[in-house]
Amino acid sequence: MSIVESSSILTRPRPATTWSNVLQGKTALVTGGSRGIGRAIAVALAEAGADVAVNYQYSADAAADTCTEARACGVRARLYQADVSRAEQASRITQQVLNDFGRLDILVNNAGITRDKSFVKMPPEWWDEVLQVNLGGPANLLRTVLPSMIEAGWGRVINIASIVGQAGNFGQANYSAAKAGLIGLTKTLAREVARKGITVNAIAPGFIETDMTSGLPDEALSAVKTMTPAGRLGRADEVAAAAVFLASPSASYVTGQVLAVNGGMYM
Ligand code: NAP
Repeated sequence: MSIVESSSILTRPRPATTWSNVLQGKTALVTGGSRGIGRAIAVALAEAGADVAVNYQYSADAAADTCTEARACGVRARLYQADVSRAEQASRITQQVLNDFGRLDILVNNAGITRDKSFVKMPPEWWDEVLQVNLGGPANLLRTVLPSMIEAGWGRVINIASIVGQAGNFGQANYSAAKAGLIGLTKTLAREVARKGITVNAIAPGFIETDMTSGLPDEALSAVKTMTPAGRLGRADEVAAAAVFLASPSASYVTGQVLAVNGGMYM
């Protein structure tokens, strides 16, 4: 390497070594930010300096707690009630966030539900409900958020998929189909908007300790631990750390990817 080349490397801006303030000036909308993974992501984005819009469906008090925790990081935080599976509600909160904060740079499609039963016994309504929330919800938000990101020439979309969308899981045909669909949506949108300065990625968590997994029988939990090289369930903050990375300017050349946060359970 010549002296000129090596000195240009030395003078090049260095990547941030800390996440604190890396998202200062950005606004993030996190769906399902009242509990579990969404709450951890909203707080982690606030710790990184982003203003946060916290969506919830029913848990107003829990969502208010998320906002309080975010504000303690010195950022602005507001609540947005909506059922993301309803297109008009998703569109309404997007507009509200844009009005309140003047921008929407980061969208985290996290809201999700399970309705588990083996496929042949599954009521058709459970299929529809899970598809409408877990796949329809993100599409509803993206339809209204992407145009504003395109206009701004910058954006980060992070879709919370699942290991179950990659590997399947007994009793979760609806959930697995929705999450696999979300991965397909992620990859296609990544191709469509990459030249507009927008990255679109998915995170595929393994089994994480939240309300969603708290009802699993003990045998199922010990089976999960046995099948996971890390030997334990994950924590919501471990998923949130991946979301902060994908939202950061440092991840500008990462798009269309599925980042597994699963303790090695599926590789
Ligand atoms: P959780 O603790 O059950 O929380 C679900 C969140 O989604 C709540 O904030 C809930 O709001 C919100 N929500 C549900 N339906 C909604 C709707 N129609 N509109 C708006 N918000 C809605 O779940 P979690 O474990 O944190 O999971 C979060 C995401 O990670 C989900 O997409 C899930 O599929 C995915 N994931 C979880 C795991 C895991 O092991 N936990 C593994 C892989 C992937 P309310 O509080 O108002 O009801």
